[in-house]
Amino acid sequence: MSVWDDLVGQDPVIAQLRSAVEASAGSSSDAGRAAPGGGKMAHAWLFTGPPGSGRSAAARAFAAALQCAETPRGCGHCASCHQVLQGTHADVEVIRPSGLSYGVKETRELVLRASSSPSVGRWQVVLFEDADRATEAAANALLKAIEEPPPRTVWLLCTPSPEDMLMTIRSRCRVVTLRTPPVAAVTDVLVRRDGIDPTTAEIAARAAQGHISRARRLATDPDARKRRAEVLAIPRRLTGVGPAVMAAEALVKAAEAEAKATTEELNEAETSALRQALGESAKGRMPRGTAGALKELEDKQKSRATRVKRDSLDRALLDLASYYRDVLTLQLGASSDLVNTELDPELRATAANATPESTLRRLDAIMACRESLDANVNPLLAVESLTLALRTTP
Ligand SMILES: [Zn+2]
Repeated sequence: MSVWDDLVGQDPVIAQLRSAVEASAGSSSDAGRAAPGGGKMAHAWLFTGPPGSGRSAAARAFAAALQCAETPRGCGHCASCHQVLQGTHADVEVIRPSGLSYGVKETRELVLRASSSPSVGRWQVVLFEDADRATEAAANALLKAIEEPPPRTVWLLCTPSPEDMLMTIRSRCRVVTLRTPPVAAVTDVLVRRDGIDPTTAEIAARAAQGHISRARRLATDPDARKRRAEVLAIPRRLTGVGPAVMAAEALVKAAEAEAKATTEELNEAETSALRQALGESAKGRMPRGTAGALKELEDKQKSRATRVKRDSLDRALLDLASYYRDVLTLQLGASSDLVNTELDPELRATAANATPESTLRRLDAIMACRESLDANVNPLLAVESLTLALRTTP
């Protein structure tokens, strides 16, 4: 067992990070040295990869391996490894922006905290999830910190792609590129780690297209499977203007239900953890003066809910796109595997009744809809114009 076990289908990344850890370990005891590891250690790392590929899991494993004092580093069973993986290590701070953006004030405070020396570990590590949510001013504050890093501070930034980060920051980072994990690797981890039966695991892994936590949800939650099926039913519901408008409403509703399920689960766990930490009594009463902290969490959760809603709708559109991509695959006679194997007969019928050009135009319409949602167009209006376009595309 090691800290790398949960990285699915990312062998080249594991090799890259392992060798960086080994290089950094060379002079771990020379606490006073300006550049531990003979100056080999990069102080800023950029973890990139598609959503669900495990960017932050990779960064967390790297943080654990950097702090671990066992051989090989990142043993996965010492107290330090456990603390990093559970998020309780004193010298590993995890920043997870809950809203749509991360501001300059918070970033400046973070930079200040990150400049202190590690208290127990070998490094002061800051793991910044969704670093692309930093506002421009925040990114500039971050840039200053990365330009002149304190000797024992390591920044781990996570973004979907390198382009999501200011060029000036990117150029100072060692880039770690995760790939979309292959279906077989995701299936394997669902079977091995979550005890899911191989058939269910394979269908879920295929449907999730490399998004690991989405695959787990689809494999374990029948409601999530039902909502996905509703989205995939949309193409056959586009029989007229009325049905197309109703299909749009169904898609938005399915995405909202998906978002609600995701947020409720997160909220409950967070709220109960905070209440306990603040000293909730056995009868569920809170000590005086804790209302502010609870209110702050509530506000954070509300702002996250907005983001999750947006992400869920985007995910639903990607599911819909997978339908037309399957149709295109069949039309082109390509041999690559279908995502939605369970719809095989319907996909074949759709493929036979249209041209590859019209399928491409439909895929374009879906991508255009994703862009307008990104630009804050009202979701129902954007999706309605999509379903109407899908219906009439020649
Ligand atoms: Zn360890």
